[in-house]
This record gives sequence, structure tokens and C-alpha cells, in this order.
Amino acid sequence: MLNLAFSLLIVLAQAQTQGQAQPPARTQAPRPAPPINPPPTHADVLRGEYGRYRANNDLLYYHLDIRVDPQKKWIGGKNTIRFKMLKDDTRIQLDLFPQYTIDRILLGQTPLAFYREANTVLVDFPQMLKTGQTYDIDFYYSGAPIASGRFGGFTFGQDPMGRPWIYTACEGQGAASWWPNKDQWRDEVENMDISVSIPSTLVDVSNGKFIGKTDLGDGYTRWDWKVQYPINNYSVSVNIGQYVHYTEMLGDMPMDFFTLPEDQEKARPQFAQASGMLKAYEKYFGEYPFKKDGYKLIQVPYTGMEHQSAVTYGNGFRNGYGGRDWTGVGVSPKFDFIVVHESAHEYFGNAVSAADVSDMWIHEGWGTYLESLYVEYTFGYDEMLKYTNGYKTKVQNRVPIISPRGIHREPPQDMYFKGTLFINTLRSIVNDDAKWFRVIHDMFQKFKYQNILTEDMIAFFNAQTGRDLTPIFNQYLRHTALPALELDFATAGTVKYRWKADEAGFNMPIKVGKAGAWQIIQPTTEWKSMPTSLGKDQFEVATDLYYVNVSKS
Ligand SMILES: [Zn+2]
Repeated sequence: MLNLAFSLLIVLAQAQTQGQAQPPARTQAPRPAPPINPPPTHADVLRGEYGRYRANNDLLYYHLDIRVDPQKKWIGGKNTIRFKMLKDDTRIQLDLFPQYTIDRILLGQTPLAFYREANTVLVDFPQMLKTGQTYDIDFYYSGAPIASGRFGGFTFGQDPMGRPWIYTACEGQGAASWWPNKDQWRDEVENMDISVSIPSTLVDVSNGKFIGKTDLGDGYTRWDWKVQYPINNYSVSVNIGQYVHYTEMLGDMPMDFFTLPEDQEKARPQFAQASGMLKAYEKYFGEYPFKKDGYKLIQVPYTGMEHQSAVTYGNGFRNGYGGRDWTGVGVSPKFDFIVVHESAHEYFGNAVSAADVSDMWIHEGWGTYLESLYVEYTFGYDEMLKYTNGYKTKVQNRVPIISPRGIHREPPQDMYFKGTLFINTLRSIVNDDAKWFRVIHDMFQKFKYQNILTEDMIAFFNAQTGRDLTPIFNQYLRHTALPALELDFATAGTVKYRWKADEAGFNMPIKVGKAGAWQIIQPTTEWKSMPTSLGKDQFEVATDLYYVNVSKS
């Protein structure tokens, strides 16, 4: 996802409007700053906590089978949910927004009792479900989706020609905004079927491999898609419209491109970037992780979303981000930001997934770093460094990148920009590109199709690099401030140096001295000193390789 550029613009626009519309500032009562981390509500806990009735089972499979009625703006159908019990119990927790009617929940032919609270549905079974046993339930529901969130959740829209254009993008609010599921991040189904019945004049593009379509004889056609890998709930999507499509091959894998009929010719040259992008990612991380399902790029009216194997695209067939130079240093206009960023999530976000939204930097920090790798692969190392450092102007350092666990609170946007600058810093710490690329390749391979926490990634980096990087990860991810390198030139011919950091034991190597002839020092939080022939003004720090503050005295 990229959830910020336009929201920043909206904030700016609102600030301007408010500035015009409101009385002079001094007549206004001061407005308190919003709390940075307000206490969780009960609904936050129900949504975010991996509690007893979620932890007692392991998801195996969904078959989401729905009918979408564009005229009535109504959806309905069922989700078949297969799970294995990990503990004996009589209740499980599912989720579905309250505006939907639960028509019935069946275990075989047996109707199940349920209890709804906020967006949660607690399902009760008449008999004990046994550890190790697998169960299927059919969850029937219906209702009218309420569009919400920046991308709409589930939106009944129209294309510019006035035809139905119906789409989902629900990472923030959750998949329970349009279908019943176990709406959390830790547990994913192993595979999934998606069946979408729509008026026969329209096309549905969902995740996975297209299996076929069936005329239902009542003016509707059912489109069947098969997802052959684990999938995040929020990644499950429908895209319904008057789509046309064409195919390119990447080796033996089809890449399918879906656009409105009028836009196909505009799309062709722009979407030609997709194969070079996947080649770049394959070079660094290995084969595209959803090969059996293929790769699809689907035109939508919002900016874009990383729906697994069905990436949605709304960047206007222009380079940069919405035509703008995204990191402001002249590199972004050379490629289509949405193609590159959203598809990066096939690797980090979809294949390697965070187990709690608190650790979403695993999606967005790495997703943003893959933009830089694409730039390095395509345009060279210097352009990569320029592009990456262009992100510095977007960092806020207001709250830590990792947000509180268990309450589904989305982290700050620093997870993108500070996240990628941190990963670039890690590369400099490793200071051996062959090793760096081996470690990140192996990290991806180890964690693909898993849901992990930051601790898992730290343990992997520590083991593979042979050093304890924990204080460095912690400083960047669990504290607000950047580490600051303090340099003291009070004694002629000598520089004293140390880190100022929140994390006890912070000990990051860094390149200092003269650009082109850097020397690596190993500062800790205690003062050290070394001789230098460079004066305070000549003594440099490689701040484009390490994202740090520097203070000289
Ligand atoms: Zn993203």
C-alpha cells in the first residue's frame, strides 16, 4: 500500500482552506495535539489481539463465493472456512462488519449459534471441537457495503464512461468490511477459492489463477479464481468492470494486464516496465513467489494496492508517483512508482508477511527498499543512493516505527521512509555487498509464505552476519530519535567520538574522514578518541550510507 502522499496533500489542502476560512490564529483557542498513542478501545483489542478464540485454531482454506449486484449495490453469499483445532474448545472468533446480516452459519447441516460485538462474530459449537481435527463451516451473509477508508473498502463506482466499476481495497479497515473471515494478520489460509457472480456483461479479476466462468442463466456469470498460496485476508480482492486484457510472458509465466478498453493502448508501453521490474526482484530475491497464480496488473481508479498476484494500479500510466518526482532528486520520473512499489509487496507483504500490523515496516520498509533495488538494478548504484536519500525529507521521527502490539494500530509513515533508510544503513554496516545480497536473498527465502515479527528477522540477520545487530534494529525501529554521532575536536590533532542513542549498548560502525577514503570507526555510547589530521570542518561522516545525525563541537 502507499497510504500517504495523497493524504499529505489532503492535509495541506485542508490547512490552506482552514487558513482562509478561519479567523486569525490569535482569536482561536489552542487546539491540543492529538495523542500519539491513545489507549486501545475494546473494539481495538477484539480486532488486534490474537486471543484465545483465534489462537485455538489454524486456518487452512476459504472458499469465498459471492454475488455482487451493481444495481442494488448489494453483496451476499458465503465463505466456507476450513480450520484445524490447536486446542479443544467450543468457540472460535471470526469477524464481519455489523451492517451485514448473518443469514446462517452451518457446520454440515447444523446451524451454529453466534454472538456479535463490534466487528467480531463469536461462533459457538454444540460439541467440543477436538485438537488436531479439521472442521468446515459455511458462513452465509448479505448486505450493502459501506465505502470507507482512503481506497474505499468495497466501492460500487463507475468508470469514466459511466459503466460499473466495482473494487475492493481494505487493508486499513480489514477484510471483514466486506466478507466474513478470521480478520487478523498472524494466521493465513494455505490456499483459497474465490467465486464471484456478476452481471454477464462485466469481468471480475480476483487473486490467483483464472479457472473459468460459468453462465448462471439468469443474466449473471460466475468467475472462478484459485489462489494456490497462503494469502492475507486484506489482499483478497474483486475488481469488476468492463475490463479488456492482454498477456505477456515472463519466461514461462503469464503476466496479464487488465485495463478499461479505452486505456489499453496507453497502458501497453507503461506496463512494459513490469517485466524488467520482476526481473530485478528475481535477481535479488529469487523466483517470483506466486508463479503458479501468475502476475496481474489491474487498472483501478485509486492509486494502487498490492493484492496478491492481482496488483491494482491507478497511477495514470505516467512515471513517478501521479506524475510527480516522488523523492525529488530526479530519479523517480524514470519509472512508474506504483508498478514498482505495489509489486514489491509480492515479495514483502504478500510472501513475507508481518504477524501483527505493529510490524508493518516488514511490508512497507522493505517494499520501499525494493524500489531502491529496482533503481540500482536498472539505473546503477549512484542513482540508487540518490533515490534512497531523497526519502530523508519525508521522515518525521515523531513516534517509533513499531507500534503497540495486539491492538491493530497502523504504524506511522516513517515505516516507509525511515524504514528503507535504515535498511540501506544495515547494508553499510555489513559493508560487503556480496554478503549483503546473500543475506537478504536468504532471509526472503527463509521467511516466504510465513507471518513473522521483527524479532524473527533480527535473529536471522544476527545469525547470518555473525554480529549482534539487535541494538541497532531496536534504535531505529523501537525509538523515535535517530542515533547521533557526537564528534569533539577540542584537542588539536584528535577527534573524540561516541553515539548518543536511546538503546543501551548501541554500537554501530560508521565511515568517517574523507569521502573516497573513508575509515571505519566503531563508536559506542562511551567516548573514544583517535588521531586525525582533519579539522572540524574537513572531517566528514558518510551520512548517505548511514542514516544518522552528526553533531560536532
Ligand atoms: Zn506499500
